[in-house]
Amino acid sequence: MPVPLLALNRVAAAARPLVDAAQLPPALRARLAELALRAPPGDDESRWRPLQIGARRWLCAQPITFTPYASAQPCSARCGFCSENLRHAAAAAPAATLRPAADYFDGLARALELLRGLPLSWSLSGLENTDDADWLLRLLAVLSAAERAGQPVEQRVLYSNGAGLAAARGEELLQALGDFGLSRVELSRHHFDAARNQALMRFRDGVAVRDEAVFARTVRAVAARVPVMLVCLLQRDGIATAADLGAYLDAAANLGVTGVIFRELAQIGPDYRVNATARLIAQQRVRMDATLDAVFADAALAAALQPLRLTEGYYFWNLVCRWRDRLDIVFEAADYTAMHARHDSGRLYKLVWFANGELCGGWEPGRRVIWSASGG
Ligand code: SF4
Repeated sequence: MPVPLLALNRVAAAARPLVDAAQLPPALRARLAELALRAPPGDDESRWRPLQIGARRWLCAQPITFTPYASAQPCSARCGFCSENLRHAAAAAPAATLRPAADYFDGLARALELLRGLPLSWSLSGLENTDDADWLLRLLAVLSAAERAGQPVEQRVLYSNGAGLAAARGEELLQALGDFGLSRVELSRHHFDAARNQALMRFRDGVAVRDEAVFARTVRAVAARVPVMLVCLLQRDGIATAADLGAYLDAAANLGVTGVIFRELAQIGPDYRVNATARLIAQQRVRMDATLDAVFADAALAAALQPLRLTEGYYFWNLVCRWRDRLDIVFEAADYTAMHARHDSGRLYKLVWFANGELCGGWEPGRRVIWSASGG
């Protein structure tokens, strides 16, 4: 049955909700099992953990993720919308341009000792983690050692374009990721047609995963070991309509994946320089609220999708559905202005370890520095 227009809030201020469940159309709201609030209210003691580093006592949100930002080499793809090419006005050296020094892993191990006891999740992102197999294997070894030393870890998630998993050392990486106890892989593929996906992701020459058969074989191999969620960024030149979305789901269902995440290109706000990436994101944006309207107005899609829950994170919201009792489908949108407002609050919502040896409370090296391997 068609669902009337969704009135999801698109807000800039972190203090206001990113999504207001009360404004969802009744037909959808009635089918939602729960509204989960992932961003902890400031006065809910149970959602904050103290963390003492040097003379400073921090309060850390629960849950919180730790990202050892991957930047051992340039990415195997060159997506025009890549958020790693956005430049925040207040940022110094972009994280993507930093390369790890020889003592990188020693510094990481020392940083993790400071976090010992803080419940967190490993979030392996940045540039492409699997492009440098030696770097990734070493990283997994350091993180595993921290766990053996008592680090409480809730989830272990890898964000990947699949390049290294489809390459010569893919099997070795898969084995190591399985041993690491990976919770899931979020695998980027922005169109089910390989040629159209290549136009969007622009894998470099010789990167095998750009090929359709190689991609399918790789996804099935990964999915046999660990749950795989495909990630598709909605965009005008890619998956843009309800019909596109339905075709994407049909293709995904044949790959053995657990589900699909459809994301809106992030709302980046006024604090980023207007470079080519920012312009492309603005030009290519397909809004998630309009997409949900179209999806639930499509009789076949609406009948196949069972909405399960609506979640508000600290800078994103998402709607989780079940598709034909086979796949988990996530519709998600994020707001970077809300993210920066949280990161600037003086509390910690995110932990990132950069190649320059800084542990920071956000995505820009040199800002919100919690600890530095070179100077404590
Ligand atoms: S695969 Fe990810 S890191 Fe690489 S260019 Fe694309 S968006 Fe950026």
